[in-house]
Amino acid sequence: MQIIRSKNELQKLVAVLRSSGKTIGFVPTMGALHAGHLSLLDMAKCNADITITSVFVNKAQFAPNEDFAKYPRDEAGDLAKLAAANVDFAYLPQQHEIYPENFSTTISIGAIGQILEGKFRPHFFDGVALVVTKLLLQVAPDIAIFGEKDYQQLIIVRKLVQELDIPVKILAAPIMREPDGLAMSSRNIYLPEDKRAIAAKLYQTLIDVMQKLQNGVAVRDALNFGKDQLLSFGFEKVDYIELCNAQDLTNMDRPEQSARLLATARLGGVRLLDNVAV
Ligand code: AMP
Repeated sequence: MQIIRSKNELQKLVAVLRSSGKTIGFVPTMGALHAGHLSLLDMAKCNADITITSVFVNKAQFAPNEDFAKYPRDEAGDLAKLAAANVDFAYLPQQHEIYPENFSTTISIGAIGQILEGKFRPHFFDGVALVVTKLLLQVAPDIAIFGEKDYQQLIIVRKLVQELDIPVKILAAPIMREPDGLAMSSRNIYLPEDKRAIAAKLYQTLIDVMQKLQNGVAVRDALNFGKDQLLSFGFEKVDYIELCNAQDLTNMDRPEQSARLLATARLGGVRLLDNVAV
């Protein structure tokens, strides 16, 4: 595995790969890698000749009061995992390679970035859209893989590349979970030990709500049941639990084909995100 730290080096390499007719599969990450990230790499390997993974903690998607400074970072551990997974190239840009001095361009993804997660993190998806655009233009991959774990992000990235005519195919990877059902996440390490068992109840509750919907319970009642159940399990706050159209995330008051149930709840000071197909 070759480690690349500069944009120039990356772009020279990509030019050589392209001229030799190789297809490129790209997996962007913020590091602190776990088996969920590695499953995206497997998908990239199955769908392209060459795999490139980036590790870059994107300041633009963190609000000033959020955890940019203390977001988990483990470069040595990440590189060992990427090498073991037989990734071809690890791209670890410095901040200035992505955001040079006096950088001032912004991207606004519009209303879809202001619902669900966006209500709680209003600048988040514009920051994601900016870094994803920059990385896709720098790496110029044929395919890029995003996880369903961050379902709203996946939908927004699909919309972004379509609307900006970025020539890349976006593939979605299913959510990887711990044995008890908790969706893997770099932030799970923040969970206090005494809360860890409760964390798995988020997924369990989504399954319970899904079953109620499938049994014909009204959407509002099923969602209220889910919220109450999470609070009774010990979650401190349910930011949202909503049933949405799986393609455009518009709210659904009746389950139809292709719906997605999305929730975020707070436990031990950690925001846990999860979603299931209904
Ligand atoms: P992050 O490093 O958290 O920005 O995540 C990088 C990519 O990995 C994103 O496309 C995430 O959706 C994806 N990802 C994170 N956790 C999981 C998981 N548990 N299962 C599948 N994909 C995931």
